[in-house]
Amino acid sequence: MTKQVTKMLLSGNEAFARGVLEAGVDVAAAYPGTPSTEIMETIAHFGKDTGMHAEWSINEKIAFEVALGASWSGLRSFTAAKHVGLNVAADPFFTAALFGGMKGGFVMVIADDPSFHSSQNEQDTRMYALAAHAICMEPSTPQEALDMVKYAYEFSEKWESMVVIRSTTRLSHSRGPVTIGEIPKKETHKGEFIKNPAKFVCLPGNARRTKPLLLAKMDEIQEYSNKSQWNVVEKGKDPLLVITSGVSYLYVKDAVQEMGIDPTIYKIGISNPMPEGKIIELLKEHPECLIAEEVEPYFELQVKALVAENGINVKIYGRKEKVIPISNELNPLILKEALSKVLKKKFEAVGEGLPTQAEINEQLPNRPPELCAGCPHRSTFYAIKKAARKRQIKPIMPGDIGCYTLGFMAPLNAVDTTVAMGA
Ligand code: SF4
Repeated sequence: MTKQVTKMLLSGNEAFARGVLEAGVDVAAAYPGTPSTEIMETIAHFGKDTGMHAEWSINEKIAFEVALGASWSGLRSFTAAKHVGLNVAADPFFTAALFGGMKGGFVMVIADDPSFHSSQNEQDTRMYALAAHAICMEPSTPQEALDMVKYAYEFSEKWESMVVIRSTTRLSHSRGPVTIGEIPKKETHKGEFIKNPAKFVCLPGNARRTKPLLLAKMDEIQEYSNKSQWNVVEKGKDPLLVITSGVSYLYVKDAVQEMGIDPTIYKIGISNPMPEGKIIELLKEHPECLIAEEVEPYFELQVKALVAENGINVKIYGRKEKVIPISNELNPLILKEALSKVLKKKFEAVGEGLPTQAEINEQLPNRPPELCAGCPHRSTFYAIKKAARKRQIKPIMPGDIGCYTLGFMAPLNAVDTTVAMGA
């Protein structure tokens, strides 16, 4: 990452990291977890010459609080976590969203994991943002990942609010060409915390006074969102409207191109607050609307509420209509099938005539995940089992999140429950 290079092939996570460095961030703190880990690794590696503070914290809550303290002290700060990591940081997350006061921009990237590639659930971070009244943005490509992070710092400082950027596994781990900028040189990374108990002490009285201010601010941001450059209308000739965001947008583009159709596509970059005014305007112009999003029906439920409230004559298709599958990530084939159902036309399936996944699986050796050969957890499990044998007992062995969950597999069979990190 040098000054002379202007274009690089970056993963989404590397692009997020590059955005953090180009934004001149002072403090970055995170806790690892797939699919978000490489963001902090890249920041730490390339940020060491910038004088910024970068750390792995002992969990996501501490990482969040380190970044929050820096932001309240006027420093640009960053944190990253996987989606379930936000559960660990949920307590300060809700309070920080309510109290705001971000003097230095505070941006967090939360990487969701649709299809459970390496996670115990596929919870949707946008639902958190909605519940906490937090700004949430969704990039579709590595280029947008970089650009959106830089923009999010200005956005955060303008509104004195934290900005959540929602990634997903496919964006975090796929690569694309990214035009990069310069990493600024900074004289100082020193902040100053100016005492203001009414703003920073979350007593009920302060919270009660702050909530209406937050709601009014979110209304203002929503007005702004209706015209934002991140919410883009791609006008088509067909009567169908497709509302989408994140990597789902790319699947929609692939599907409509292969099918030779031309719907209007509304690509939403600011998911919360949703650009309601623009959506209402588009719904009034179209008789049918497909909502393509991963994972929860986040837009779908809100759009249906808008349709009912405003008496708009439009048919909405999404997960509730079983046009989009109710779980797992999307792909161009799923979108092609969904569009076929909505348009009531048969289109040739992508990959017709190619071997099915089941046929491919038959040819492949089975490679279940396992602990590395020299993993120290193996000897721990072995010692526990040996002690149990010696005492002739059958202990219940609660496990934990991480590689050691694999201790549940034969021949160790040494994990009976796994719920969450630390449980
Ligand atoms: S904890 Fe064990 S299984 Fe996981 S990476 Fe380390 S050595 Fe491998």
